Amino acid sequence: MTTPARKQYLRIKSQHTDALLLYQVGDFYETFDEDARIAARELQIVLTSRMYGSEAVPLAGIPLHALNNYIGKLITAGYKVAVCEQVGEVVGRGVVDREVTRILTAGTLSEPNLLPARQNNYLVAIAQGRVQSGLAAVDVSTGEFLVTWFRAEELPVALDAELQRLNPVECLLADGSNREAFHFPTRTITLTDCPVSFFTFEAAQERLCKLFGVQSLEAYGCAHVPQAVSAAGAIVAYLEKMNGGLLPLLTSLRSYNTTNYMVLDAHTQRNLELLQGTRSGGVQGSLLSVLDRTITPMGARQVRKTLTQPLLDLNELDARLSSIEELFESPALRSRFTMCLQAFSDMERISGRVRQGTATRNEVLGLRDNLERVPELRDLLLGCDSLLLRELADEAGNCQEVIDLVDVALMRAGDEDEDGDDGRLIRRGYNEELDALYASIWDSRRWMVTLEARERARTGIKSLRVSYNKVFGYYIEVSNANLKLVPDDYMRKQTLVNAERFITPDLKEHEARILSAVERIEEMEKSIYSDLLRQISTYYVRLVDTARVIARVDVLLSFAVVAIHQGYIRPQLEQGHGLDIRDGRHPVVEYTLDGDVFIPNDTQMEADDGKRIMLLTGPNMAGKSTYLRQVALIVLMAQIGCFVPAKYARLGLVDRVFTRVGAEDDIAAGKSTFMVEMEETGTILHHATRHSLLILDEIGRGTSTYDGLAIARAVVEHLHDRLGARTLFATHYHELASLADEMPHLGVYTMAISGEDEGSSIVFLHRVIEGCAGRSYGVHVARLAGMPMSIVERAEEVLRQLEEGQQMSESRLILLPESKETAERNGQARIAEEAVSYQGDVYWQSEEARRVASRLEAG
Ligand code: ADP
Repeated sequence: MTTPARKQYLRIKSQHTDALLLYQVGDFYETFDEDARIAARELQIVLTSRMYGSEAVPLAGIPLHALNNYIGKLITAGYKVAVCEQVGEVVGRGVVDREVTRILTAGTLSEPNLLPARQNNYLVAIAQGRVQSGLAAVDVSTGEFLVTWFRAEELPVALDAELQRLNPVECLLADGSNREAFHFPTRTITLTDCPVSFFTFEAAQERLCKLFGVQSLEAYGCAHVPQAVSAAGAIVAYLEKMNGGLLPLLTSLRSYNTTNYMVLDAHTQRNLELLQGTRSGGVQGSLLSVLDRTITPMGARQVRKTLTQPLLDLNELDARLSSIEELFESPALRSRFTMCLQAFSDMERISGRVRQGTATRNEVLGLRDNLERVPELRDLLLGCDSLLLRELADEAGNCQEVIDLVDVALMRAGDEDEDGDDGRLIRRGYNEELDALYASIWDSRRWMVTLEARERARTGIKSLRVSYNKVFGYYIEVSNANLKLVPDDYMRKQTLVNAERFITPDLKEHEARILSAVERIEEMEKSIYSDLLRQISTYYVRLVDTARVIARVDVLLSFAVVAIHQGYIRPQLEQGHGLDIRDGRHPVVEYTLDGDVFIPNDTQMEADDGKRIMLLTGPNMAGKSTYLRQVALIVLMAQIGCFVPAKYARLGLVDRVFTRVGAEDDIAAGKSTFMVEMEETGTILHHATRHSLLILDEIGRGTSTYDGLAIARAVVEHLHDRLGARTLFATHYHELASLADEMPHLGVYTMAISGEDEGSSIVFLHRVIEGCAGRSYGVHVARLAGMPMSIVERAEEVLRQLEEGQQMSESRLILLPESKETAERNGQARIAEEAVSYQGDVYWQSEEARRVASRLEAG
């Protein structure tokens, strides 16, 4: 038989089937059934069971006070948590009323201690349409609310790129949508199915208009894209359902178009290790780890956004670069900005908590102190020459009103007021009624303090004491020896071994007065405090704008500081398709090379009439990948407005950077390496423009030599003849080098090696030189890698045999045996003579013979 308590639980649980239900039972939150099994596993707590009637129900519980710790763990593990609390009084043996007071999910968290400070925490919604799809994102801890959209033909690449960049913790999808269609960068993302009604255009539009108090969404720049409105509306509907208190944080919606920024598809973001090092899985080894010297949490969040949204606008870039240059040039300015920024805490998130009404006194006081530093920051900015820095000064709002509000209202912990009272939350003079209550407490306390002396005099009991304890309140204590002197108006309250405790009618009255005043004070202070938060939050938009100015200044300063430490220079940016880098370096590799010197390299390309494809050969470990990525990173750094690791750099703006390098993670998705490689290459060839930069590392490697070579060659031809984008192409197919004779825009380079003749003692110089590598040195690398000596020696022997065979063919291109016969039949004896059979294939010894033969072959 089910007991009433169990029934209540099952009823509430049935309304929250998709969440773990934490169910308050006295001082514990309990979980039951399957929830208990999950909680026990995820939280490493004990799984027991409890009898409800004749039913044994699995149970695992956590103490009330430890809730936050545990919630953090459950949410990081991808769960949704519903907190169900006792709301009624516990009377007799009946079942106390309970209700779910909050539902927490990864995307709706706003408690700073549950969130990483230096990272945004985005909740996104995707609305799919036939022509376009919309993506909305919100970070409720900072109030940022964004929306963008993609045309169907850009999907899924553009959407994946944006998801990779935002790295959301939770994603809302309409019921029934195809989850497989999206690639999320983290595996722990919470996917939340929402009713289709959340996404209906009309409802979404209405919800947004109501939230912002407007008639139309015209001003937000997305009114014309139904899917964008739907996605943003779905977020509002969801927050409304989960925690309506979060809605006031959304004061505006920013539409942006991903095509206004350099496009970095998801692969490229990962391949270039922008925010995450592949090896570390964390920030270590990433570009972020080098460029992020920000001081404030909002600066740290901003630098991530800056890094993944390179600009395409020369003026904007110039403004950033000039501001960095100014900071770069002046150590005094840098140190003044540094000192100033160090004073700021997480104003952005604290402002959000004020708006929600959850900020603590210390947070509010911290915010106030921050605001006091804003004029200093503004003066610093106004004193700069750079236009951008001066403009930022204007955006940092004056928040003196907030400082004044806090100053008149709030006591600092530890501050004493005139009465020597350090327990007050609200200052004397702020509210008359409150002051009167404190005054009455003080009256009664003074009366209590003098009571002891008065009663001693009245009774003649020298050892009489007036004290207080939590259970009995105020009392007069008289030792047993003096009991005979106790006057009639003393009423016995408690008997101890050698003393009695009494109260008097007067004492009782004063005590009651204190108690009721304390209770009333608590209520009043709470309401005055909430009111104060409400008043401060009318300045919310200004506070957040100011916080964002701090974030941007912090990023600029960070770039200047890194430029100084790492010896970067200001790049020259221009329209056009040139690329001229002298002594370029890889920002991350040079940073992590422990004591070793990084060898700088030049890059010169001109997409219009010069060489625009760099074909790079060279053995493994010689530094090809490093070089390829270095060029991409320098371009990217320049287009976020950062200085670059080089002696000189002149760069024509790049609209997209594409990379195709080793397929790491998709293999797990069940696709062959080759399939992934071809898909990625296909995407690049479809989307790249003349303004793009292509980084192709070993196209065609995942298949047999001839297939691979054929594909690589076809790709190079396409890039050369049609696309014309600046391209770096690393390859093991030395055969491709011969293409340079036919292709004027193709330059052939290799990684320099010393001691080539000695064989075993070669050294990689990491220098890019013109020409083609003679050999691959794979065996050499095998030796370096510590392969058993016997294997290395045997491999060398096999290699020699193969090389001897290969010397027979100059061009090393293989044609069908039949063409030799065709040549003979046609009487082209000289050509036929040049065909040499080797191990079943026919090689042509000269380029001319090869060409004639291929014509023959074609018919
Ligand atoms: P490849 O792609 O040719 O196999 P990598 O680019 O992976 O070679 O480089 C191998 C290693 O050589 C890198 O991990 C790095 O430590 C070192 N290296 C590469 N380029 C340079 C350079 N320019 N200067 C110094 N060391 C370098």
